[in-house]
Amino acid sequence: MEFCDECGSMMKAEDGTWVCGSCDFTKPKGDAAAYTVTEDQEASEVIESSGETSLPETDALCPECGHDRAYWYMKQIRSADESETRFFICSECEHKWREDDN
Ligand SMILES: [Zn+2]
Ligand SMILES: [Zn+2]
Repeated sequence: MEFCDECGSMMKAEDGTWVCGSCDFTKPKGDAAAYTVTEDQEASEVIESSGETSLPETDALCPECGHDRAYWYMKQIRSADESETRFFICSECEHKWREDDN
């Protein structure tokens, strides 16, 4: 739905252009917002599945609670010459820490 910038009347689509029915004002149809019907369905699916973590789990000793299992992921921090650092998230208490350099 589009309304005329000049008189506020409802406009109708004609060959890729919005045309005002009252004053013949026209403007190009550049807006794709009216054609996003299926995106709502995809968004709700993402929300439903976001409750579970997809991170891999490994043997790692939590410094906080002593639990021996943790999720982990790689992340590059600061400058590019620094190698990727492994981060752990305790599967018990969710404490987060980074792996020290060996
Ligand atoms: Zn108009
Ligand atoms: Zn822990």
